[in-house]
Amino acid sequence: MSFRSRLTLFFVLIVIVPMVSLTVVLFSLIADNENGKQDARVAARQSAAINLYKADQDEAAAALVGVSGDIPFATALRENDPAAARRRAQRLLTKLDLKRIVVTRGGRAFVDVGSSTATFPASGGLQDTDGTPIGRLQVSTTGPRAYAQLVKSVTGLDVILTRAGRSLASTLTPGTAMPSLPVKPSTVTVAGQQYRSAAFPVAGFDGAPVKVAVLDSTARTSANVRESRIVAVGILLGFFTLAFLFALLVSRSLQRQIGGFLEAAKRIGSGDFSERVPTVGKDEFAELGDEFNHMSTQLADKIQQVQEEQDRLALAIRRIGETFASNLDRDALLEIVLRTAVDGAGATGGRATMRVKPDGQLHQVAQAGSLDELTATLRQVEAMVLEAGAPRETSVGSVMALAHPLRAAQQAEEDGPPRITGIVSVARAGVPFSPSERELFHYLAGQASVSIENVGLHETVERQAVTDELTGLSNRRRFQEVLAGEVERSRRFGQPLGLVMLDIDNFKQVNDTYGHPAGDLVLKEVARILRESSREIDEPARYGGEELAVVLPGTDLEGAFQLAERVRIGIAALRLPIRTADDEPLQVTASFGVATHPNSSHDVRSLVAGADAALYDAKHAGKNCTVRAAEVPSS
Ligand code: GH3
Ligand code: MG
Ligand code: MG
Repeated sequence: MSFRSRLTLFFVLIVIVPMVSLTVVLFSLIADNENGKQDARVAARQSAAINLYKADQDEAAAALVGVSGDIPFATALRENDPAAARRRAQRLLTKLDLKRIVVTRGGRAFVDVGSSTATFPASGGLQDTDGTPIGRLQVSTTGPRAYAQLVKSVTGLDVILTRAGRSLASTLTPGTAMPSLPVKPSTVTVAGQQYRSAAFPVAGFDGAPVKVAVLDSTARTSANVRESRIVAVGILLGFFTLAFLFALLVSRSLQRQIGGFLEAAKRIGSGDFSERVPTVGKDEFAELGDEFNHMSTQLADKIQQVQEEQDRLALAIRRIGETFASNLDRDALLEIVLRTAVDGAGATGGRATMRVKPDGQLHQVAQAGSLDELTATLRQVEAMVLEAGAPRETSVGSVMALAHPLRAAQQAEEDGPPRITGIVSVARAGVPFSPSERELFHYLAGQASVSIENVGLHETVERQAVTDELTGLSNRRRFQEVLAGEVERSRRFGQPLGLVMLDIDNFKQVNDTYGHPAGDLVLKEVARILRESSREIDEPARYGGEELAVVLPGTDLEGAFQLAERVRIGIAALRLPIRTADDEPLQVTASFGVATHPNSSHDVRSLVAGADAALYDAKHAGKNCTVRAAEVPSS
């Protein structure tokens, strides 16, 4: 059911139903009132009719005395002469202006003169001189028609006189059928016309009662009832119109307000929070509107927060991705961690500092946001972290700062807490950091510390994978890789590539005489000479055992030979801190084989084989010398 239908139903229930009931009651009251008034009027008129009847009766009683005292009439009666009695009675009618004289004797009419319709007789007994009753005398002075006219002229109402149910006189249309005329006020219909009637019975001739009824036409009452009802209906209609207009007004206003809410709800549903529900006054609707607007604002805020969270999440996910990508790039990692920490802690800026050398100064390696106002505070908090070796927080003026140390992986031989290798710090002006911001910052910085440690460990492992532990030179695998790459480059760019291989002379003997550690020392020193004699682009390596090699990009056979000679002389000049049997410092020599690409080889294998063969030749030539590989014909 729609809101409008409900309002209509409500209106019908509280206005129309009571109004219809009221109309029914009012109509009935109006009818009762008018009927009551008519009954009162009829009753009053009836009293008048009764008075007139009484006056006629009094007149008849006076006439009765006159008739009974008439000598001739009395004589005729005494002599039992009906003819004489009737004659005298006729004379008396005229003389005394009577309407009827009746003498009954023995139950039968002895004399009966005058109008048979005469009414309201006075009665009296007749006696002889000796007192014996000789009959009963009834005298009437009233004609029913005259009486009816008189009553009508006095009361203004119609009158009907009946005897034994038959009309004696009527002021209404003659000849109409007589209704029964109850004594109590009641409504009767005569000739199709309705009347309110009240009747009273009186004694008539020979005991036959006469009924006198006064009738008041209901036409006027009906007109009154109609008029009153029209007035009532008018008032009710006025009230109804007012109620209807008011209901219409209220309904419109409610509908407008509810329509407003509906519109606003639809707008909110479609994600538009800009417009507000208009609220007027202080009623429940205004409160509802206010609540609605409040809700809308809250919702907009929440959605914005969710949006921001989403953006942050997206950023965080992107950064996690970047972190994966930059997993082993220390600076990129620090940059990402710093940016995330600045955003996560709601800071306006921050920086990451690292030591370039293990014991050197801290240098800024990453920055996020503007540091203009923050530098002093950042410096102070970083100093506090260095001093305490733990996370710290401080404020200078209105600037608050948080800092967290980054640590190196602990070396097996080190004691105490791991060294601080860097610091991540963030700051902002104004509001202090909340516990959750602080917690997030330290979590991120802690994670960064672990990652940086991992980067360090990884670098070590990576270095170890290509480095010979004893000599610090590239290992054989690295040597092979570099050599293959350089042969390829040499082939592509037509540049010469030199390869020198050396083998320490009588090394077994060194081991056997002075022990393995002494042999290791010799190996390290020889390796150092080789490294120090090499250029940046050369690749000195331990080829295996006490056999070393160096790859010389862009170097021809002669260049390689000269390098080999320099190294050989350098080794021969070494005075090792090991005493010989003659208490002289130990000295060693090495033999060298030199080959080049493409002159003495056409691939990696033949290049190595060429150098190896030259080295073999050098051993056979008496050691401590350098031999060039034979040239191969170009293919
Ligand atoms: P030659 O002059 O013909 O080269 O004789 P040599 O004794 O040097 O040659 P040989 O191949 O017989 O001996 C090489 C020795 O090098 C054997 C091995 O014990 C020793 N050696 C190989 N690697 C190491 C190492 O890492 N440390 C030490 N101390 N000795 C090593
Ligand atoms: Mg050897
Ligand atoms: Mg040797």
